[in-house]
Amino acid sequence: MMSDAAAPMPSADGLGCGEPTVLRERGQREVFCGLASIVWLHRKIQDAFFLIVGSRTCAHLMQAAAGVMIFAEPRFATAVIEERDLAGRGDMDAALDGIVGRLIARRPDIRLLFLVGSCPSEVIKYDLDRAAARLGQAHGPGVRILTWSGSGLETTFSQGEDRCLASMVPAAPAIGADAAPQLLVVGALAEVVEDQFGRLFDALGVGPVAFLPPRRAEALPAIGPATRFLLAHPWLGETAQALQARGAARLAAPFPLGAEGTTAWLKAAATAWGVPEDRFEAVTAAGRARATEALARHRERLAGKRLFLFPDSQIEVPLARMLARELGLVPVEVGTPYLHRDHLAPELALLPETRLSEGQDVERQLDRCRQARPDLVVCGLGLANPLEAEGLTTKWSIELLFTPIQGYDQAADLAELFARPLIRRAALAQ
Ligand code: SF4
Repeated sequence: MMSDAAAPMPSADGLGCGEPTVLRERGQREVFCGLASIVWLHRKIQDAFFLIVGSRTCAHLMQAAAGVMIFAEPRFATAVIEERDLAGRGDMDAALDGIVGRLIARRPDIRLLFLVGSCPSEVIKYDLDRAAARLGQAHGPGVRILTWSGSGLETTFSQGEDRCLASMVPAAPAIGADAAPQLLVVGALAEVVEDQFGRLFDALGVGPVAFLPPRRAEALPAIGPATRFLLAHPWLGETAQALQARGAARLAAPFPLGAEGTTAWLKAAATAWGVPEDRFEAVTAAGRARATEALARHRERLAGKRLFLFPDSQIEVPLARMLARELGLVPVEVGTPYLHRDHLAPELALLPETRLSEGQDVERQLDRCRQARPDLVVCGLGLANPLEAEGLTTKWSIELLFTPIQGYDQAADLAELFARPLIRRAALAQ
């Protein structure tokens, strides 16, 4: 867990003519650190290994967050750096070299090793970039070594994914400006979702298509001025910057949540590839119809329910847009840890009028939530139990990261995540 104890400084920030007013807060926050993203990333890149350079606290977090994977050969571990190792840089180098050497000897399947930084001040002072370069020389080219920080002082849990993907961009091969345009879908998606999108792009004639992160490290896609990329998640600001620095162009779009978001997201790529309108309609009609029909079942239960979102992963704005426009929920407050004005512009244009808050001062926000008495609260694990005890119905926001929710065929699963707590509350009341 992390906290930022800066003095509370709420302020209202007008984004410009016709744009919403944002309540900006800086105070105590309640959110997991970036290491938590390893829980979904390690399943995604199948020949990668995540070695956290950290403390016993980091090891405990990972054990608790990913403890269910005891039956598999794990693809992450924590190199617990003892104080003895920190007496001098030489000791730390030797300790890390020994751990990495033994790991690679025991696991010849590893092609990509991430050294993941953490909070302890000794780890912050240690130069992980230098260590990655040294170890890369020792174990390359068979094993590539990259580094990123999952420290709770710098990252919330979804930003861990951003740091990880951004670290991969400089390692990707290059494509020139004269190459045919290539589509890159950026953000870890469940394989079933990736396959569905792959089929839709194929039917539209959009491509070639690659995904970042790839399923295997050696399939790291080439990047350059011919790359057009679509973000699959709203928390990938640094990765987008790194891609743009290599000449790639971002296709602005809402995020692929719900029938409307998925259609607009696909449309951004179709427009860039000059796909005729009738072909787009023909390819997307069946998926849209399936999603709309499946959502109608949930709309009955959810329409008119008041929704309060605490800031957690940055998915809050696209999520509120989808829940409001496709299921009829009424957002009372949409909190987000960071509002990326540029990447979220297409979302903000669709979001119904509501209170938007950026950053967090958790006590003030809890007061606003209690006062509003919403029907459903989306929040982190740490806030859910106390709010349930006060009679509020909650949904754990972290479930949105572990459940495939993007695309037409997952729209109903997304709706169900919100219907379930209301059904449970109604059953308990009876
Ligand atoms: S990186 Fe920091 S916040 Fe995260 S588990 Fe380690 S010590 Fe805790």
